[in-house]
Amino acid sequence: MNQILADRFKHLQDSIGQTCARAGRSEKSVRLIIVTKTAPPELVKDVIRLGWAELGESRAQRLTQIAAEINTFLSENADQPDIPKAVHWHMIGHLQRNKVKATLKHCRMIQSVDTLRLAEEINTCAYKMGIHTDILLQVNCSGEPQKYGVPVGATVHLAEQIATMTNLRLTGLMTMAPLTKETDRVRACFARAKEVFEDIRAEKIVGAKFKHLSMGMSQDYPIAIEEGATMLRIGSALFA
Ligand SMILES: *Cc1c(COP(=O)(O)O)cnc(C)c1O
Repeated sequence: MNQILADRFKHLQDSIGQTCARAGRSEKSVRLIIVTKTAPPELVKDVIRLGWAELGESRAQRLTQIAAEINTFLSENADQPDIPKAVHWHMIGHLQRNKVKATLKHCRMIQSVDTLRLAEEINTCAYKMGIHTDILLQVNCSGEPQKYGVPVGATVHLAEQIATMTNLRLTGLMTMAPLTKETDRVRACFARAKEVFEDIRAEKIVGAKFKHLSMGMSQDYPIAIEEGATMLRIGSALFA
C-alpha cells in the first residue's frame, strides 16, 4: 500500500465530510468517483484495496486497458474480504461514436453524453448488447465555446429526446467549471447546472431516477458540494 495515497485519501474523505457538514448536507448524499486517468495501475489497485469501487476514466482506450487489468486483479483477490468483488467504471471524457461499443463493455455509466447522435449510438449499441446503460448529460455551464457539453439552453430539449430511448436511463447531469481561480465564476457555473437539473426534475421529463448532479474536481469540489453536487470526480488530489 502506498502510504502517501492512503493519507491523501483519508484527508480527502475528511475534507468532503467537513464540507458537507458546513453545508448542512449528509455525507451520504455525495458520491466520490476516483478519476484514475493519471494513476499507474498499482495505485489504482491500492485505491481498490482502500475499499473504493467507483472509478472514472476519460479515454476509451485507457478504460479498456485498465479495466482488463483490474478485472484480473479482482479475480486473483476474490478471497480477500477487504477487496471489493467488483468495481464500477464511469466514462467521464469526450467519447467518439466509434468507441461506444468498447466503452460499454466495461462501464455502466457514461457521464459525457453531449449530442443526440452520441446518445443514439449508445442506445443502439446497448440494445444490440442486451443491456441498459445509465447516462448523464454533460452541460456546458461556463459558456466557453471550446468546451464539450450541451449548451444550457438546449439541455431540456435533448433530455426530452433521450427520455424516449429504450436502452438508456438518463439519471442526471454532469458539468465542468472553467479552470480558474475566480471562485465566483466557478460557483456561478455550478449554480447554473443545478438550475437546469432542477428544471428537468420539475418538468418530470425522466422521473425519480433523475438524481445525479456530477460536478466538482480536485480544485473546486468544496464549491460543488455547497452548490448541490451529488457526485464528485477527483483525481489529481490523490495522484498528482
Ligand atoms: C480529469 C478529470 C477529472 C478529475 O480532475 P482532477 O483535477 O484530476 O481532480 C474530473 N472530470 C473530468 C471530466 C476529467 O477529465
